[in-house]
Parts: sequence; C-alpha cells; structure tokens
Amino acid sequence: MKQIKKTFKFTCLALVVAASLTACNDGPSQQAPADKATSISAQTTLTSVDAQQFLDNVAKEMVKINLEGSRAAWIYANFITEDTAALAADADQKSTDAGVRYAMQAATFDNVEVNAIQRRQLNILKQSLVMPAPQDPEKSAELAQIGAQLGSIYSKGSYTTKAGEKLSLGDMTSTMANSRDYDELLEMWQGWREISPEMKPLYARQAELANEGAKGLGYKDLGAMWRSNYDMPADDFAKELDRLWGQVKPLYDDLHCYVRTELGETYGTDKVAQDKPIPAHLLGNMWAQSWGNIYDLVAPEDADPGYDVTKQLAAHNYDEIDMVRGAEKFFTSLGFDALPETFYSRSLFTKPADRDVTCHASAWDLDAKDDIRIKMCIQKTGEEFNVIHHELGHNFYQRAYKDQPVFFQNSANDGFHEAIGDTIALSVTPKYLKEIGLIDSIPDESKDIGLLMKQALDKIAFIPFGLMVDQWRWKVYSGEITPENYNTSWWELREKYQGVAAPIDRDADAFDPGAKYHVPGGVPYSRYFLAHIQQFEFHRALCEISGNTDPIHRCSIYNSKEAGAALNTMLEMGSSQPWQQAYKVVTGSEQMDASAILDYFAPLHVWLKNKNQGKQCGF
Ligand SMILES: [Zn+2]
Repeated sequence: MKQIKKTFKFTCLALVVAASLTACNDGPSQQAPADKATSISAQTTLTSVDAQQFLDNVAKEMVKINLEGSRAAWIYANFITEDTAALAADADQKSTDAGVRYAMQAATFDNVEVNAIQRRQLNILKQSLVMPAPQDPEKSAELAQIGAQLGSIYSKGSYTTKAGEKLSLGDMTSTMANSRDYDELLEMWQGWREISPEMKPLYARQAELANEGAKGLGYKDLGAMWRSNYDMPADDFAKELDRLWGQVKPLYDDLHCYVRTELGETYGTDKVAQDKPIPAHLLGNMWAQSWGNIYDLVAPEDADPGYDVTKQLAAHNYDEIDMVRGAEKFFTSLGFDALPETFYSRSLFTKPADRDVTCHASAWDLDAKDDIRIKMCIQKTGEEFNVIHHELGHNFYQRAYKDQPVFFQNSANDGFHEAIGDTIALSVTPKYLKEIGLIDSIPDESKDIGLLMKQALDKIAFIPFGLMVDQWRWKVYSGEITPENYNTSWWELREKYQGVAAPIDRDADAFDPGAKYHVPGGVPYSRYFLAHIQQFEFHRALCEISGNTDPIHRCSIYNSKEAGAALNTMLEMGSSQPWQQAYKVVTGSEQMDASAILDYFAPLHVWLKNKNQGKQCGF
C-alpha cells in the first residue's frame, strides 16, 4: 500500500502537528514570540511554574507554526513551482529552527521537579528533533547544510543507461517492478546506487555532529535518543524488536524459501543459487523491501479469486468521488462522524490537467481541528480503493485526537499512524466487498492462498527490512560501525535479516545505504517495522470485539459499532499517555505480540511448508 512514507516532509505533515515540530513544519515568520518562550534563563532556579509557562508559550506558537507550515506545504504539493517550493522550504526551515529552540529549552528542565504531564510534554519536545544540532552555532549550521545537501543529492539522483537514456528513480522503479530481464534489472539496480558514494563523507560528518547534539540533550548517542521515543528504556526497545522478529522469522523463512525456488525456475539456479541469499535485484523493488510486484512469478496455481475489483468498480460506475464516499462509509459504519464538507471541497482527488502536483497519496490535517484532507491522483483501481481506506484511517485518527493539547496531537507512538491506516485496509476483504455490493459472492477458502500470498509478499517480506535499516544506523551512531565498514556492514545485516545479497561485488567507495531515501533523509525507520507488527494485532483484536467467527484474514470490522468504539477510544488518546496504555484499549495487552501475524497467515504458512518439503531452506 502506498502511503505517505516517501518523504519526510509529507510523512510529518500527513501525520501532522506534534510531529510537525520535528522538522516538517515551518516556524513563525517573526522571532519575537519564540523569544518569549526561550527567554527563561538557565541560571535562575527553575520550577514547575516556569515549566508550565514555557509549555504554554510553546503551545501557542506551535499552533500557529503548524498551520502556517501545513498551508505552505499544501500549496507547494498542489501547485509545484519555483516560488511555492521556495516558500515551502522557507517555512520548513523556520519550523526546524523553532524545534531546535524548543528542544534545547525543554532540556533545561531535566532536573526540575515537574508533574507527569509536564514531563511527558517536555520529553516530547526534546525528542522531537530527529537530527539534534550541537550547541555551537557553526556546527549547527554545518549540520543543517549537510542535511540539505544529502536530501538534494538523493532527490536529484538519476542514471544514464548504457544506451544513453537518462532515467529518474520513478522510471527505474517501474522497470524494477515490471522487467523480468536479469541484466536489465541489474543495470537499474547498479545504476541507482551510483548516486550515493558522494554522500558517504557527508553522512559520516552528519553522524558526528548529530551525536554531539544528542549528547548535549543528555543521550548516549543519536541511536539511543531515537530508541528513547517509545516509553521504555532505549535498550529494552531494541530487545523488544528482536523478540518480535523472532516470532515472525519462521514464517519469513518459509516465504523466502518458496520465493527463491520460484525465482530459480524463472532465472535459472546458476543465477539464483538455492543455498544462498537471493540476489537483491530480482524481487520487484529497488531495495527488495516488498515483493508484491513479482506476484505473477510466484502466484499459487488455482488461486484466482474469480473477481477483479477494478473491473467491478467500472461495472458499478464508480468515479473517484464515489470511491472516497465508499471508503468514508466504512468509517461511518463503525460509528465515526461523517467527514466535514470541507474535506470534499479542499482535498485533491484527481490529477489536474494543467499543473504539476505531488501525486503520492497522503492524508493531511491542516488546522488540528476539522480541516482534514487527502491528496491523491486517484486511479479507478481496486488497489487505489484500498489506499483510500488507508488514507482516511489517518484522517479519522487526526480528527479523533484534535481535542488533546497540541503536544499530544499525534499517534500513540510513531508506528501507530501507519498501523491504523493499514488496519482499516486489512478489513477490505471479499466479505466487505460483497456487503457493499461490489462483488456478488465470496470466493471459497481455497482461493484465499492467492490473496494471502499477495499480502505476504508486501508485508511479511518487508518486516526484516523494516528492522535492519535502524539496526545499521544504531551501530553507526554508537561507533560500532565505522565509515570504512559502512557498506560491508549494511550487506552483512541485509544477508542476516533478509537473506538477500548484493548481486555483484560492491566497489570500495560504494555507499548503498545512501540509495534508500530514509538514510540521507534522516528519517527513523523502526516505525515501519512497528506498524507492520501492530496492524495485525489491531485487526485481530478488533475482529474479536466485533464478534467475528471467520478466520481473521477473512474478517472485516465493517458495520461493527463495538469495534468502532474501541478503536475511537484508542485514537482519541493521541500521544497523551504511554503508547502501552493506548495499545491496551484495543488489544487488552501492554505488550506487542506478533502472533497475530502468524494467525492471519496460518493457511499460507501451511501451504508454504508443504511446498518447501524436501528443500534446503535457509540462507
Ligand atoms: Zn499512511
């Protein structure tokens, strides 16, 4: 499912607000109000009264900052010109500057006795910076400069083919998805990675500077700071991710084994050795992070569900707005209020004929009240119908927590927002499609293997990638991985977790992590791992609340007021309490549990084990 993860700015803006003080927003155009907030001298003895005054001032500023920044970003994404780009970048910079000031000031209350709510708000301010700047203004400017340079190298990246054709990442992405020519895929894979060697020294310096900033805020290093964002000790968080991965790994291993066999049949076992990691360019994706694009190569026989949602949408004369209204009905069936009229008048649903826009689907919250929107160039396909449900999941979350203080207008942890969108999309099952009249009958269970395989290629395949990106960065920030080892360590982790390998020897100056947006973009990645775990647990729990008796991959919570009420209670909390409290509302437990994934994919897992019998699995 395509969501708002591609760029940091849109991720934050889509998820909005408290997150937006991190870096994705703007700042006030005047310094004056900010000075009020930051004028408290560190030399005075600070009290909780000072803390409250500081928080009140920041809250007032943030509301203004967020609104201004969201508007600038919205206009830019909807009317891409030099001018709107400059205005949006300007707003973004001001927001970052404000975020730096707030974090520094919040840290001065570290040893002041304050109440629990104040402490939570101060911590949110402190941890909102993804790349904290050192105190030294020169170093701070250098860090900002490096961040901009890395972003620019990535966004301008392109590759000129041996045939002389200049390709963008978008072009290459499409070839990676559709080509079945080993050498063409290899050229794309290798070509895209030519953009990143020049990033390496910049990246190393950025790590040094941001580590210094993190230490200034009282953290061991930047990785420890990132891991401190989850209402548990930083080291426990790392262990928790390993534990969850351990639960999923047996299923992943069987999926990997089966896919490797099928790829061996397609490309030859001389190219896809059956006892080694899979070459990373054959999985339908530039980073081998989700494999749905090679479904045709691995599709189980006789698993065609017998309907095609795209054709059904056409047969029922759905236009783009009908698709959105249909998805909205999913939420109203759960008991949520209908979307405000402004949602329909202000959203972008179709690609305009006369101007450039960012088509990547995203959900927006402009004013942290009712001005919620989506921005999509909707194609009338089954997949997009799914994406609309996902995006509206963000919007209903945003509206549910609008009455929280601005600091808490965010998801319970950074995995929740994506998880909620995906949770809703998991309910777009054949049963649901029949209930809304799009298909006439529910295919029998023998056809489920095809649908489950598609889901597994996207979601199960992603999980080890979602884990290893930050495993690598945490080690970079702790100093365990040094610049000389950046690339070899990256591939060691990719082999260890994903069982994929570089298809050719890498040059000594290669910096393959830099070819993945979130590394030069400085966007933490664990949130995507969490979202992939959490969504299945939310789905299982909500299905149970709804009284479902089907296997959970067949369940839809459509029409269940009980499930809707539980979901709403969790969403309304925003980030006001430790995420475990929000988790408990729906799942009954304060601890994540990946067994829901095993339940969901149980029929596929049996099928895979059967297919893998007698094979040498593992990598
Ligand atoms: Zn999303």
